[in-house]
Amino acid sequence: MMPGTGRRWRRRLATLMLRLTEARAPAGRFGRWRELEQSQWWSSEQLERLVETRLAALLRHAADTVEFYAEQFCAAGINVAAVRRVEDLGGLPILERRQVREHFAALTSRAVPEADRRLNATGGSTGEPLRLWQDAQRDDLNMADRYRTRRWAGWDFGEPSLTLWGAPTDFVGRRGLKTWMKGLVLGSERTLSAWDLGDDRLLEYARILERHRPVLVSGYVSALYLFARFLSRRGIIVRGVRGVISGAEVLFPHQREIIESVFRAPLLNRYATREAGGIAHECDHRAGMHVNIENILIEVVEAGRPCAVGTVGDLLVTTLNNRAMPLIRYRIGDRGMLLGRACPCGRGLPLMQVAEGRISDHLQAPSGRRVVGTLFPHLFKDYGAILLGQAVQERPDRVRVDLVLEAGANIEQLAGLQADLERVLAPDFSVKLRQVPDLVSTSTGKHRFVIPYEGSEGATP
Ligand SMILES: [Zn+2]
Repeated sequence: MMPGTGRRWRRRLATLMLRLTEARAPAGRFGRWRELEQSQWWSSEQLERLVETRLAALLRHAADTVEFYAEQFCAAGINVAAVRRVEDLGGLPILERRQVREHFAALTSRAVPEADRRLNATGGSTGEPLRLWQDAQRDDLNMADRYRTRRWAGWDFGEPSLTLWGAPTDFVGRRGLKTWMKGLVLGSERTLSAWDLGDDRLLEYARILERHRPVLVSGYVSALYLFARFLSRRGIIVRGVRGVISGAEVLFPHQREIIESVFRAPLLNRYATREAGGIAHECDHRAGMHVNIENILIEVVEAGRPCAVGTVGDLLVTTLNNRAMPLIRYRIGDRGMLLGRACPCGRGLPLMQVAEGRISDHLQAPSGRRVVGTLFPHLFKDYGAILLGQAVQERPDRVRVDLVLEAGANIEQLAGLQADLERVLAPDFSVKLRQVPDLVSTSTGKHRFVIPYEGSEGATP
């Protein structure tokens, strides 16, 4: 067989399977993806009308079925039927992260049965865990947006991809007919752990990259950057990658430059959070990030007042399609701005920019092994007692984890976390947990979940 013939057949088969799945479940993720492929080209006026329709339905749903909002709207004398336009949203209160923690039950809609919702825990950009309910519609639309943005990066259904992400070991999913069929549509997806990036591991990943021949590579910014630097140092030439998608952390210009030159493909940055899913994503023009406006409404405020276009402020998100636990004007903890200009690509999705987004560093062991900082919030999120956490590399081979705990909780209850950390960090680091009353923030007020050993290369410039 000629090289590439197998791939062409796989593409055709994927298209066929995709059409069959869409026809069977038009409201499922693939049907939703088809809708998003259309609506991204609508005019901004058309999109605004769609958002307003969805917003009106969401506010009605919140007032009727979510105790927290019903009480709030009533106490403030707000008639949600009068909120017709996005600008009218300013009259509603802002939802803080702390309130989501404190009013978890009251924020849950009684109209969505427990069987139809799924619990999602977030480590958050600040290392402060949070639990949320999500429903199937939200998940489908989030995946649909994922497919749309992957296609912006040059990937298509049926094609192989590779991800450097938070998985403890090389991830092998469940096997079975359903998984096999999904694999046909989505193409073979290989996930490699971003928590172990020593040279031996990176060499192994380079071999996998060569064998797997992904058209799309995605991952944490710091993991992609470390991988790219390794490939460049070893003189390994990457072939066949059409696009790279980075996320979860601040992308510095020097990182973009190195990643793009090593993978020989454009890098599209993604802004997503566990609470809201995909929020915004660059297209190949990279003139800003396109807001996933069919799902997420973005506002920018400073001291409670709306910011002018082009001015940085706190980002508020309203999730338009999660009926299980709607987030309305939720302060996500990042700063950014709306750009108010059109993108040369012609898509009507508004453009935004994240300002001081995610801050993440990595630990570097004397052995050369590197561990990205996102490991810590990922593990913290499984322990409800942890309010805030930070890993401090006290010595090249020793990590101290400072934890702010809920009232009444103590460090002895976290033996599971201690064991998890030891398992992941051994043999390069010893680990010690310590309870502290509070943690020191960065000069920007943003919490860092990793403080690398001074002078090590783990510190972000
Ligand atoms: Zn664009």
